[in-house]
Amino acid sequence: MSIDRIRPPLGRALIGAAALALAATAARAQGERDPGPDAPVQYDVSFPNAVHHEAQITATWRHVGGPLKVQMSRSSPGRYAVHEFAKNVYSLSAADARGQPLKVERAEPYSWTVVPGRDGTVRVTYTLFADWGDGTYAQIDATHAHLNMPAVFLWAAGYDHQPIRVRFHPFDRKWKVATQLPPAGEPDTFWARDFQYFMDSPTELSDFKLREWQVTDAAGHTATFRLALHDPGAEADADAFAAKLKTLVPQHVALFGELPKFDYGTYTFIADYMAQDAGDGMEHRNSTMLSGAQSLERRNFAQLGAASHEFVHAWNVKRFRPAELEPFDFTRADPTPSLWMAEGFTNYYGPLMVRRSGQGSVDEFLDDMAGALTYVQTGAGRSYGGPQEMSLRAPFLDAAVSIDRTNANTTVSYYAYGQVLALALDLEIRRQFKGLTLDDYMRRLWRDFGAAARPYRPADLRETLAAVTGDRAFADGFFKASVEGSALPDYAPLLAQAGLVLRAKSPTKAWLGVRRVKADGPELVVDQIPQPGSPLYLAGVDRDDRILALGRFPIASEADWTDALSRLKPGEPTTVRYVQRGRTVEAPLTPAADPTLEIVRAETTGEPPTAGQLAFRERWLGPDEKKPTH
Ligand SMILES: [Zn+2]
Repeated sequence: MSIDRIRPPLGRALIGAAALALAATAARAQGERDPGPDAPVQYDVSFPNAVHHEAQITATWRHVGGPLKVQMSRSSPGRYAVHEFAKNVYSLSAADARGQPLKVERAEPYSWTVVPGRDGTVRVTYTLFADWGDGTYAQIDATHAHLNMPAVFLWAAGYDHQPIRVRFHPFDRKWKVATQLPPAGEPDTFWARDFQYFMDSPTELSDFKLREWQVTDAAGHTATFRLALHDPGAEADADAFAAKLKTLVPQHVALFGELPKFDYGTYTFIADYMAQDAGDGMEHRNSTMLSGAQSLERRNFAQLGAASHEFVHAWNVKRFRPAELEPFDFTRADPTPSLWMAEGFTNYYGPLMVRRSGQGSVDEFLDDMAGALTYVQTGAGRSYGGPQEMSLRAPFLDAAVSIDRTNANTTVSYYAYGQVLALALDLEIRRQFKGLTLDDYMRRLWRDFGAAARPYRPADLRETLAAVTGDRAFADGFFKASVEGSALPDYAPLLAQAGLVLRAKSPTKAWLGVRRVKADGPELVVDQIPQPGSPLYLAGVDRDDRILALGRFPIASEADWTDALSRLKPGEPTTVRYVQRGRTVEAPLTPAADPTLEIVRAETTGEPPTAGQLAFRERWLGPDEKKPTH
């Protein structure tokens, strides 16, 4: 928890010695407390050159026995590619406790080695440049310091289990501090019980708006929720967003059956919606960092969807957690075969919780699922591997930047892949096992691995499905075919149970195999590798080829392309003329039918659903605002 300078940690009612005694007892009970000013690891952070995106940071390590290797992380939990955070560190020097300079050696790009003096204290001072406000990096300017710890702080091996203290010196007197770190006994000072917790604790310093409320679960456990909102809008926007979160949170609690035990009793939504931010959302144990360039008002509060997704993570991935990510190794990419569960199932429940809370329509939920299904079911990526393989490829997909080009057709995002898998599994469980749903599976995962703080292996996910359904053959079959393998179930009969129709959205529309073309001056260029097996792919067309004509229609603009496409018919042969790397080619081309899928309520197709189908739908998605009356 904590938003410093606003509320004392135990509330206004407790003051003075009584509060301190109570806080000390609570801390001892957890075996942890503020390490005080002599903490073995300490950071001091100021922003004298905030307008040029610089922070001045002093890191102090005490009781150093020999040469100390201090390093910047190369990875960050929740973002699976390698990041070279060391590139933003410069003007680094080291001194002992009395300020006498210490020798610094640099053997590799990510670390510095400092030889301590006799007093065993190493104090490293450096400048950090930071101008990317999202869930992984950091951004410093006159309006805020948006800090994700792996992008900001040097650390030293061997101090993993030592407590840490950090003191901030706000650039602006109006800045407050939002973080899940507990406050220490001095202004703008916080502490962490160890390195892993510190790195998991993003911190926003700005003149944010704060809202706070309590939530109590069925077992009578209460947690404090906070919204720290840095947004150009009015106070009323903060009220409205907090009201939406208040309506949303109980859905998640109902799904998992109880609140997690938030460390320090508090969960904080840190929401940063300033023009200079990049769109993102990142999960943490007791908080989330949400960001985006548009204000709440501008997006009409659509940011609720990302908040819902990240809050599912308070259970799924921050508590029931793949063993491969535990503890997180900050020196390399951390691969796990289970991101289809960690991210994909979260991508299913995020919109489902919004729907069940009544803040999104059934149709919006169905559009979300149909989009994911179109991408996964009709794309080429699945022929290159199933959900486990796609999870293991995350280091090359998730915010990975490369100079050479990638063949996007060989991958499927584990977000959408896991999402449609969750959809299928939920509907399959409802079909085969009376009274059971995917929610029961999630609750069991929470109980056995989350509440029990036991990281899971891929086989545990299969075992748990067998235990919940009492049907080992079902669990084995599902995992073998659709988790280890890449088969997808037949969605139409699964959706029909809820009176829903899966169908092609535009079956008479021609489709050639690309979603994107771009105008390049008076020319039209294909902007992606056509999907393998698609008409353009079979005609030999590749990325960057210039299209000259489709059949009789010359192409010189996006409008020409759209126009020609509307005149072509699926199955009716024509030709394509194009220039590829200096070669002009004319090839036969047979347009296919647009593979885009839609899921619609049966009542909109003239085939009214039965009462049983409507009841199924309502048990699954909650009461429908457009419920037909019979
Ligand atoms: Zn996520």
